[in-house]
Amino acid sequence: MTSGARFEANSRWYGREDRRSAGGRTEVVICLDGSADEYIDAAIARGRAPNLMRFASLGGRFRARAVMPTFTNPNNASIITGAPPSVHGIGGNYFLDRSSGRETMMNSAEFLRAPTIPAKARDAGRRVAVVTAKDKLRAILSKGLDVGPGAISVSSERAHECTEANSGIDDALKLSGYPAKPEIYSGDASVFVLTLGAAIVREQLADLIYLSTTDYIQHKHAPDETAAIEFYARLDDQIGELDRLGAIIGITADHGMNAKMTPEGEPYIVYLEPIIREVDPGARVILPITDPYVVHHASLGSFAVVHVSSPDKVSPVRERLLRTPGITEVLEHPQACAALQAPPDRTGDMVVCSGRSVAVGTSPKGHDLSKLDGLLRSHGGRYEEMVPLIFNRPLSDQYTRLAQCDPRNYDVFDFTINGVVA
Ligand SMILES: [Zn+2]
Repeated sequence: MTSGARFEANSRWYGREDRRSAGGRTEVVICLDGSADEYIDAAIARGRAPNLMRFASLGGRFRARAVMPTFTNPNNASIITGAPPSVHGIGGNYFLDRSSGRETMMNSAEFLRAPTIPAKARDAGRRVAVVTAKDKLRAILSKGLDVGPGAISVSSERAHECTEANSGIDDALKLSGYPAKPEIYSGDASVFVLTLGAAIVREQLADLIYLSTTDYIQHKHAPDETAAIEFYARLDDQIGELDRLGAIIGITADHGMNAKMTPEGEPYIVYLEPIIREVDPGARVILPITDPYVVHHASLGSFAVVHVSSPDKVSPVRERLLRTPGITEVLEHPQACAALQAPPDRTGDMVVCSGRSVAVGTSPKGHDLSKLDGLLRSHGGRYEEMVPLIFNRPLSDQYTRLAQCDPRNYDVFDFTINGVVA
């Protein structure tokens, strides 16, 4: 089959007859981790993102809503399946298993309940590639992909170990022109993802590609800082290269990013356990942001899940939380599942969101703030929901209307494959 082959994934159809008859194009979907619009605007304003500026001036820039919680894995899982967490099951990096009562790490592929778009595209005969910065995420996003020639799967973190058997390509470093694997706590880890993506297009190794970066720079730098501008300039450069190579490009983000700081310049953290245990000593707080990459955020974000010790504690705990400065929203289980499209069996008795500049933690001893260097920039809540949705070419009239009517970031494959006018 050709690159225009149609396929179905999670009740949506992808692929267009006109592209097949035109000989097919490479379609590239990019998730720029942690890219609040402010980052792109700051780089554009300084003339450092000419390609993104051009795409915007062509009418290809919109805004989309991420899924809650606005963390990396739920949103990447949503983008790669084209479906919300209620369908694919990944609502965070951590959840409390309601049947066993055990805290369970959810950052592995076994927890993904839905087939991915690349896996279904591969089944339909397309040649696909998934490139991520973090290897844990690569494993989730490559679920169901029979990795080998025509089904590439690479992470920056393990780029030095690539073989055709385990990654679908030999020597990803050489292909991308990198002398060594990029350091995961660096901008390089992300630039590498796009650089390798461009090399894959140039060598015609795949025709449907997902590229997902990491947000180390955004956690450490505000949009107008030089380090952030330089980082976006490098990303823009590679996006420009993909464009020059003729790829159809769709860009979104998994979440935004905000400073979680007091006006006095201290990390602004509401520790939930001491507050909740005033009314329910047996309650448990789960922070689904928790992952092994603690340098980014010390497990502090704007979203928490609470499990109470008995059903009669739900109301008093909720009321106590809503009286806490900095807490903006407390949704009980049914509302959380309905409003946030959360997976019911992996969602607690209530979910808690904090304000734009406020993070939630468990207890002071549960977080090592020394890694933060006094600066806490993070995400997870409502204020990191709005993200860019950008295409390098115009959309059809139908998809332009859809893009103007509150699209989701996980619609990006649909827009890129079905909506962009080739
Ligand atoms: Zn992220």
